[in-house]
Amino acid sequence: MADLPRRHKIVLDEDRLPTRWYNVVPDLPSPPPPPLHPGTLQPVGPDDLAPLFPMALIEQEVSSERFIDIPVEVQDIYRLWRPTPMFRAWGLERALGTPARIYYKYEGVSPVGSHKPNTSVPQAFYNAQAGVKRLTTETGAGQWGSALAFACSLFGLECEVWQVGASYDQKPYRRIMMETFGARVHRSPSDLTESGRRFLAENPEHTGSLGIAISEAVEVAAQDPTAGYALGSVLNHVLMHQTVIGEEALEQLASVGETPDLIVGCTGGGSNFGGLTFPFIRETLAGRMAPVIRAVEPEACPSLTKGTYQYDFGDTAGLTPLLKMHTLGHDFVPDPIHAGGLRYHGMAPLTSHLYELGLMEAISIGQTECFAAAVQFARTEGIIPAPEPTHALAACIRAALQCKETGEEKVILTALCGHGYLDLGAYDSYNTGQMVDRAFSDDDLAAALASVPKVPA
Ligand SMILES: *Cc1c(COP(=O)(O)O)cnc(C)c1O
Repeated sequence: MADLPRRHKIVLDEDRLPTRWYNVVPDLPSPPPPPLHPGTLQPVGPDDLAPLFPMALIEQEVSSERFIDIPVEVQDIYRLWRPTPMFRAWGLERALGTPARIYYKYEGVSPVGSHKPNTSVPQAFYNAQAGVKRLTTETGAGQWGSALAFACSLFGLECEVWQVGASYDQKPYRRIMMETFGARVHRSPSDLTESGRRFLAENPEHTGSLGIAISEAVEVAAQDPTAGYALGSVLNHVLMHQTVIGEEALEQLASVGETPDLIVGCTGGGSNFGGLTFPFIRETLAGRMAPVIRAVEPEACPSLTKGTYQYDFGDTAGLTPLLKMHTLGHDFVPDPIHAGGLRYHGMAPLTSHLYELGLMEAISIGQTECFAAAVQFARTEGIIPAPEPTHALAACIRAALQCKETGEEKVILTALCGHGYLDLGAYDSYNTGQMVDRAFSDDDLAAALASVPKVPA
């Protein structure tokens, strides 16, 4: 190990914690199309959203300010784990024999092991400030639910989570984590809501989906004036809260004299990807750098690469406003791949808009290639990634191997947005040769797209 390099870890002092979130919207050549009321097909106003969200978050959702101050109470909590470290992946580079330099921003150091508390903490804060007593939400594998349960416990809010049935049955540890933080967790579909009862009537053994769990959580919050609803991805304010990732990463790369040539992130609803890339898109639009920006999604749930760009519901029962986004159709139920956080039928309107503007590109990768990449990463870098960012790592490895062929010394940046220590069942499935790639069915896609509401252009 005589050639052991000097610097693996690039840290920022606590006093370099970002004090503002970045809103990419005012820097774009055109704003994203607004959410529409499903009845009137007119843009939704603050009053339409007020039953679910506090005014501070509604203002952020529609804001045209470039920067929004992070409340000091939120900064104080961020400092429990932020600024997060960035690592140079020397071990992985050496194993690949690539001249590329690979950097990863590690969000797994947060209290729940992912980037999600970057937004659950401010969401709980603004709700508590507005006098809300209880927050409802959905969760798939449980990363978002545990992040919101953690944040609610800090601000004395009740937290009620509808968890996708398949994960509730198969992955008890995240549920136990949510309950330990004081949340109540229901298997979705549940008999507690009209939406849930409808899906249970169709199939009493229903294994659920994120879209159904959203319907249940929204329904309960809309009916209780003391309750609010929190969403872990997709919305503008969520992506904005995540920009602390990219702001820190910009500074960390600059501190070692690097400018990225390629930035890669995994996309489920688009929040860790937006959080990492938006500050770099700002720098790109200002002419200070020109990285390729690449989203990576699962082959089994390819909303950007195979979905259509149109108005659709954010949930399955059709209770949310219509969002202009890349969608597979709100009825689409993706195959049960291990990356539960990437199994959502739509994509953030903001990410979808950037894709339409040509400011980023997207690819999809099957899960066996992703886990092969993750195992190579674990054996060379020492961290077992969450199933979701294995997609980004597989794309990094593809790009690094291409550099090996061409001899290009590209600088590659990615977000390792969570660790996989509560997802070891997925690794067991891979390690024992049982993991399969799920074929995507164009027929299922066509059927799901047929139910998307028709909105005149
Ligand atoms: C929730 C989650 C995702 C998917 O959500 P995005 O909004 O696309 O980031 C990805 N990775 C991890 C670790 C998650 O918890």
